[in-house]
Order: sequence, then C-alpha cells, then structure tokens
Amino acid sequence: MIAFTPTIGRLYSYIININSPYTYIYPLEDSKLKHIIRSAKILSPSLCDPRSIRHRVHTTTTPAIAMATSSHSLLLQNPNRALLKTPSRSILPTTHLNTVNLPTKLISIRCAATTQTQDHSPLTQTQSQDRVFNFAAGPATLPENVLLKAESELYNWHGSGMSVMEMSHRGKEFLSIIQKAESDLRTLLKIPSEYAVLFLQGGATTQFAAIPLNLVKPDEPVDYLVTGSWGDKAFKEAQKFSKAKVIWSGKSDKYTRIPSFEGLEQSPDAKYLHICANETIHGVEFKDYPTPKNGLLVADMSSNFCSKPVDVSKFGIIYAGAQKNVGPSGVTIVIVRKDLIGNAQEITPIMLEYKIHADNNSLYNTPPCYGIYMCGLVFEDLLAQGGLEEVEKKNKKKAELLYSAIDGSNGFYRCPVERSVRSLMNVPFTLEKPELEAEFVKEAAKEKMVQLKGHRSVGGMRASIYNAMSLAGVEKLVAFMKDFQAKHA
Ligand code: PMP
Repeated sequence: MIAFTPTIGRLYSYIININSPYTYIYPLEDSKLKHIIRSAKILSPSLCDPRSIRHRVHTTTTPAIAMATSSHSLLLQNPNRALLKTPSRSILPTTHLNTVNLPTKLISIRCAATTQTQDHSPLTQTQSQDRVFNFAAGPATLPENVLLKAESELYNWHGSGMSVMEMSHRGKEFLSIIQKAESDLRTLLKIPSEYAVLFLQGGATTQFAAIPLNLVKPDEPVDYLVTGSWGDKAFKEAQKFSKAKVIWSGKSDKYTRIPSFEGLEQSPDAKYLHICANETIHGVEFKDYPTPKNGLLVADMSSNFCSKPVDVSKFGIIYAGAQKNVGPSGVTIVIVRKDLIGNAQEITPIMLEYKIHADNNSLYNTPPCYGIYMCGLVFEDLLAQGGLEEVEKKNKKKAELLYSAIDGSNGFYRCPVERSVRSLMNVPFTLEKPELEAEFVKEAAKEKMVQLKGHRSVGGMRASIYNAMSLAGVEKLVAFMKDFQAKHA
C-alpha cells in the first residue's frame, strides 16, 4: 500500500508491507511518485498527478503517529504485522501507537517528530535495542536505515510485484537499479567520464589476478608497494601473470608504516604501481598517494572505499570489495580508465576481462543483483548525508576519539601504527597485558560490542569503524575501554 503526505512542502511516501513490522517512509520526487503509482496500480491513472494526490491527502483524516528515525525517513509500526507474527524487534517506543486503517484507503500521517530536510545526517543515531555494535572488518555493519529500507522493499520492490532477488537482470526494473547505483557512485566519487564503473564478482582477490592480466604482458615489469598482508597477496598473485616486483615492504616493521615517496626506487619501465590504500588487518592507510613513474597508479580500496573523497583521476584503476563500506559481500567494484580496457592477455578468462564487462555494462552474465541493489541503497544514503566530505568528517571524529583513548591510556592500550598513517577505518590495538585480551573480547560482547578480536595473523584487538558505525558505537567502545582499564590496571 502506498499513501502520501505533504510534510514541510515535501511529499513523503510510505510503503507498507504486511509482512514487515515496520513501514518505511521516505521523501519522493514527483517523477518517481508517478512511476510508483502506475506500477503499483493502486490508484487510477487519473490520480497520477502529484498535485491531485496532495489535494486528496489534505482531505483525508485518518491520523497516524510515526517516529522520525532520521531527518530523511520515518518509521511507522505496521499493525497488521501483529496478526502475522510478533515483531522480533522494537524500534518504536510503545507510546508511538499507530492508528492507521490498512490497507484500503489513503491516509495522512501526523509526525510525532519534526522533519528537517536540510539536515545532512540521515543515519539513525540511536541503535535499535536488539542490534549489536558490530566492529567486524567485513562483512561489516551496514546503515540501519538502509537495512530497514531493504526490508520494506524485500517482498515487493516499488510495486513491481517482485523482490529484487527475483528480477531478471535484463528487465527494466533491475536496469533502473544498476544504472542508478552507478550514477550515484559517479556523483559520490566525482568519477570522470573517461572511467568505466564495473560491478563484478569474485571479491578483491580476483582483481589481484585480473589487474596484471588486463594491463600488461607476462614479461612486463610492474611495481608493488607492500604496506600489509593484502598488498602482499596482490603481489604474489601478480607474479603469476607479470614481472612483478616489490619496491618497498613494511614487513620487517610488522607493517606499521608507509615510506616517504621521494625515496621510493621505482622500476624505470614498470607499467603500473600498485598500492593497498588501506590495509584492513594492519590499520595502515595512505593519506596521500605516490606518483608512479609512468603515471599509472592502481589501488585496492576495499576497506576505505567511499569513506572520504578521492581524486579518481590520479588512478588508472581503483577496485574494492563492497563488504566493508558499501554493501554485502559478492559485489566487487572496479573503476577503470577506459583507455586501459581492451589489452588483456590471451589467457585471460572471459570473466576477468574488463572489456567484456565494460561492453556489457556489467551484465555479460548474471551479476550479483541483490548486492548491487544494496550498494545502491548505501550510495543513496551517503549522498543524503551530504556526500563524502561529510562522511569523512564523521569518520575522522570517530577515529580521533578511539585513537585518543588508546594513546591516553598510559600504555594499557597500544596502537603500533605510526600516527601519520593510522587508518580511519580499522583500528588495531594491543593490551599491555595480553592475558586480558580474551576477557576484553568476552566482556565487550556482553555489552553488545562484537567482533573486536584482531585478525588471526596479528592477534590483539581491532575495531573496524566503517562509515556505518555510529559515533554512539565508538563512544560506547571508548567508555567500555576506560572502564575495563580501571578494573584491570
Ligand atoms: N583487499 C583488502 C584491503 C581487504 O581487506 C580484503 C578482504 N578483507 C581483500 C582485499 C580481499 O577481498 P575479498 O575477500 O573480497 O576477495
């Protein structure tokens, strides 16, 4: 059921799915509104003019009380759900009762909270009672409002009568989803038109091979700057398909730093220079980028993708697995300069050839449709937050809070990474008394903070604080750390 209400000069739509305990309400442009009404076949075509809908809404009387979950969205409890199944979660306070008669008529909504469309912080600030703060490195936490929107659209996407999971990848509905996802990503990262955006499968690990296969001949030299385990893995795979060389490795310093770029001894004829922009395990992040001798920089941005603005034009290729900052696992995004496409080695499997995917708009074979849809919802959310400049501000604030707690603990907690290259996304730390680590993880889990154990290869702790981790989550972790220290120092 779809109904509309004018709120501060803006139309809000709400889609009520009887299988869901909540109704998702969000602002809708008039053009979309028309599309939804037509495809939902709820109203007669003569009612497709939003002005007439506004008028009708004014004349309807049934009130409902909704709760603002953010400046851009509202949640409304769905009374029919009670007949189906008791909701497992309770986001709404019990005082927020819903008095809507469903599903037969147009209704208007009176909001218990004011909506301010100018505010650029649509992420839900409060965490639902039965969700944990998930500090996992990936798959990782996703924005709560994105999950709720996906839930509300899961059963019947925009009145299409289908879930996104059931759609043909060549149908007009899915085409609109993938095109919007690409267009929003282009806006977010200001991707120049000379770059192709590919939505692929196989994870970033597959790109470790795809990159040399697409860019060079087997006997051509390429350089790898290795600042952590992922860069090392990328190099090892590249060795199979090129003359790959490590021009600098931080291994002897346990991957805690990035070298100065001036002193780098790049191979004179290297076809590209590969970096891992953020090492997820070691928490080392490039704040600036080296200039390769021949101008072609390739970056694995899996764990800091869309966490801050990036000048895409500095890179030949940027690639990232989605499952940290922008969606579920199963989607790998490759941003590649178009003139680099079309020179793959003969042995390149067709699924690794950029030309095949670029020529077919990522639809050569069946793409990870649902994952791409979820990425699209995240891109929409990042844009609604004000874009990557705003997102970076929030990420900096969270990271500063956590690093200052570590640095201010008199050595009880320690972060081994050189300060200037500490990651905004993955914060590794150790305890002065390693024997307390297991207890730290256990006690934190009791407080609903999970996945804080460091990667098995390095031990210690790691808090991944990607875009979707709220400031409240980091504040709670910091408070817990101080408390834990007071008990055990
Ligand atoms: N690069 C980086 C920086 C990563 O963090 C990861 C996964 N954690 C990978 C590559 C591998 O990604 P995938 O599992 O998607 O192949």
